[in-house]
Amino acid sequence: MTSRRELLGRAVGALAGIALTGCGLMHPAAAQVPARRREVVVNGKRVKTVDVHAHCHIPEALELMGQKQRFPALVITPDRIKAMDEQGIDIEALSINPNFWDKAERDLAAQVVRLQNEKLAEICGKTPDRFVGLASVALAYPDLAAEQLQDAVKRLGMRGALVGGSVNGTELSDPKLHPFWAKAEELGVLIFIHPQGTPELEASGRLKGSGGLANVIGNPLETTIALSHLIFEGTLDRFPGLKICGAHAGGYLPSYPDRMDAMCANRPDQCPVALKKKPSEYLKQIYIDSLIFTPEGLRHLIAEVGVSQIVIGTDYPFPWTTTEVDDILNFPGLNDAERIAMLGGTAAKLLGINS
Ligand SMILES: [Zn+2]
Repeated sequence: MTSRRELLGRAVGALAGIALTGCGLMHPAAAQVPARRREVVVNGKRVKTVDVHAHCHIPEALELMGQKQRFPALVITPDRIKAMDEQGIDIEALSINPNFWDKAERDLAAQVVRLQNEKLAEICGKTPDRFVGLASVALAYPDLAAEQLQDAVKRLGMRGALVGGSVNGTELSDPKLHPFWAKAEELGVLIFIHPQGTPELEASGRLKGSGGLANVIGNPLETTIALSHLIFEGTLDRFPGLKICGAHAGGYLPSYPDRMDAMCANRPDQCPVALKKKPSEYLKQIYIDSLIFTPEGLRHLIAEVGVSQIVIGTDYPFPWTTTEVDDILNFPGLNDAERIAMLGGTAAKLLGINS
């Protein structure tokens, strides 16, 4: 799975590179087609599209951890902007998955995060009309993570942070993490929850075999578990101002929310934490990205969480989709305001982008 991703990532980068060159080596027909930025328009109004789910790597940070860059497409190059132009994405919120520093000891984790945040801020600063940054934090050390978030937002202009769906076996709802959530709420910034797989299940061997199940099932499952704990343990009641976005359309959570309500209604002994509303109602205060692939999937997401909670997520440069913008543009039954909100209006507000 990994090598396939890498190859496809390279292919995406290479294709974008071809669009850039315009040299005599290209096929004559291709050379006549200029690479052009796609501008998205709704009913005559130019819309600034925002992708909240776009990954990158800072090679120097990987080196600090003694690791090599395995995914060239994760390094920001001009190819990235060409790919965005082709898809009609105006702004990406860049983020870095924490799986390579989650287990690092405190000082090293602090160094990695500082380096990543500073380098990412540099990248965003050079191209502020195309990139904003979601910070890295060392969530294994919640007090440090809270400091890092504040530093990234106040000093470096980051718009929030990416965290995994758990950290070294600790759930996001664990009271140890309350200082981090308190800081995120205080700062009013977006926390993008991105799964890092389900290592416990992978260890059992049940996700082996064809289908990439560690990703296809393991990732949405991790997001589902993370969001469920935040709901059922009362974290979202404790920090009602939190702005949380679940990757990959919120995992499986929007697929079966009424089962949560049925459990608490019929087995109250299983729901000892008193909540301020029905578990399913928290879906309407969580944001999720639109990485759902089909109009029927999007219809269901809208029904469960509402148009106001859905933002574009492409997972670039991983080759899941290139049609997120079109999927929303072509979705039937939306009014202009709803379409514009999903294309970028809502994400712009969450990320402090002038739309
Ligand atoms: Zn992703």
